[in-house]
Amino acid sequence: MSHEKLTLDEMTRAGAHQKGHFRLSSGLHSGDYLQCALYLADPRRAERAGRLLAGGIRDLGVEPGLVVSPALGGLIIGHEVARALGLPFIFTERQGGEMTLRRGFAVAPGERIVVVEDVVTTGKSSREVIRVLEEAGGRVVAMASMVNRSGRDDPFEPLPFHALLAVDFPTWDPGECPLCAQGVPIEKPGSRPVS
Ligand code: ZN
Repeated sequence: MSHEKLTLDEMTRAGAHQKGHFRLSSGLHSGDYLQCALYLADPRRAERAGRLLAGGIRDLGVEPGLVVSPALGGLIIGHEVARALGLPFIFTERQGGEMTLRRGFAVAPGERIVVVEDVVTTGKSSREVIRVLEEAGGRVVAMASMVNRSGRDDPFEPLPFHALLAVDFPTWDPGECPLCAQGVPIEKPGSRPVS
């Protein structure tokens, strides 16, 4: 099945992908900076991304009854996906370092859940979300994200996964950064204004 996807060019035009020389929050250097929140800053773009991702989830054939995202990164895209699927939306959050369901939210026993993220990199925090939901009695049936930076097509195998855009940007330790070696000045990510 073919799906309309987001392109890196769209992210770039939205100011959500920048080329340059950046120090990432991890301390690594990169020539690319990607921030989904800058794409989602326009509610029309957020609505479209949610609709496209919902289409991909629908075609996984898993028939979820609930959409769950981890705060803060997943909130906007998860909410838009839930709107497009006509499903309720709840979220998890980190409290004192521990992933947990937001106070007041509950999961019905056996509830079929799709977890929606903005970006999947290592998948570590997504796995924490899955664990929280399963301990709450739910059943995670699929994973989805706007951007896949995991370098794998199926990072949550055997769970089905759909992403709108896969990217694989190189990162370097500061001592091995070719941009540093060329004397390219380093920028703080996101320091350019959003159009
Ligand atoms: Zn550098």
